[in-house]
Amino acid sequence: MKENESVSESHIAQWRADFPILRTSTQSGKPLVYLDSAATSQKPQAVLDALTQFYASENANVHRGIYGLSELATDAYESSRRTIAEFIGSCYPDQLVLTHGATEAINMVAASYVATVCKPGDEILLTVMEHHANIVPWQMLAEEKELIIRYVPLDESGALDLEAYAKLLSDKTCMVAFTHVSNVLGTINPVKTMTEMAHAVGAKVLIDGAQACPQIAVDVSLIDCDFYVASAHKCYAPSGVGLLYGRPDLLEMMRPYQTGGSMIETVEFERSTFLPPPMRFEAGTPAIAETIAWAAAFRYLQSLDLDAVRLHKLNLQRLLHDRLQGFPKLKIHGHAEKKVPVVSFTHEVIHPHDLATILDSEGVAVRAGHHCAMPLHRYLDVPATTRASLSFYNDATDIDALVKGLEIAEELFA
Ligand code: PMP
Repeated sequence: MKENESVSESHIAQWRADFPILRTSTQSGKPLVYLDSAATSQKPQAVLDALTQFYASENANVHRGIYGLSELATDAYESSRRTIAEFIGSCYPDQLVLTHGATEAINMVAASYVATVCKPGDEILLTVMEHHANIVPWQMLAEEKELIIRYVPLDESGALDLEAYAKLLSDKTCMVAFTHVSNVLGTINPVKTMTEMAHAVGAKVLIDGAQACPQIAVDVSLIDCDFYVASAHKCYAPSGVGLLYGRPDLLEMMRPYQTGGSMIETVEFERSTFLPPPMRFEAGTPAIAETIAWAAAFRYLQSLDLDAVRLHKLNLQRLLHDRLQGFPKLKIHGHAEKKVPVVSFTHEVIHPHDLATILDSEGVAVRAGHHCAMPLHRYLDVPATTRASLSFYNDATDIDALVKGLEIAEELFA
């Protein structure tokens, strides 16, 4: 489909119909207008069905039982790992550690890889647009191991300043960790180029894909990064599951992150030996139904016309920017050329929390605050922003509702 083509109403209506929650009303009695998909996505019926189906007819613990039901659950769980691995691009299932979320995956790399290879004085390079999940684990490690953290700045548009990035990279850089897509600005970062540049100085690369996986096609082997992380709940699936993709040689040298059942080879009174990756990093009972439902979410996405989805989101993003630009007192933060439909803004008069409360009374769910990116807000010199984040299940009427809510807010504060 071409860029200036529009997506048929029936396509959009069908996508919306797949998400039961979009037919509900809010506490204020208004139909729900959900504009907070960057915080968590809504779940399609296919995912709800997968959860029910598992608990109704396949529930047993995995990797342990020798009885049929447990084998069924194990097969469903392991085949879900394969589906998830395919979804992030030609990645082998052994390279895919199932975690409890993107946050746990980043902590795992910090504690089990970087902590064991870095030396005092080494540098970790982050960007100013990172989520706290991709800042705080590195700060803890830096304190413990005497490492130095540096941050890549932004240009005027809210894109990363690649010249500054090039200057910050050096043979002291041991790890570069950056987000694929900003949860505040919506910017899509040039991850392949950034990875190449980091590899050229011998640094390893971790990419935080929490906001990218639900919005754009991801192929870890094309990007050629060392680690990639994401969370299921942002990808139309349940919470409690995430992924860590790792290069096999790096996963192989990593220490276990947590220990217990499921990750051991043998346990003696004195010592234990561990299974190879990915099981080495999956201690305890995993989120079985949630993982199976994540695979169902991927299959659901594959069943859609993905060109139409991509175009619809582009149209929504343009419409959202155009309509918000009709409010002279409102400032949008983030105009990068490549971005997803996530827009954060401030108002000259109305505080983000007041704005979100007024919008809520109109049924419009947006996020207000620092969106777990306090350093970015400090960098932008704003205490908080209001964020509208859209997905393919939104449509132009949702943007109309946001605009109407903003008009009401401005009248109230006039
Ligand atoms: N990184 C980014 C860019 C995010 O937006 C989020 C979630 N808001 C995370 C990491 C952390 O994800 P989770 O809370 O699912 O672990």
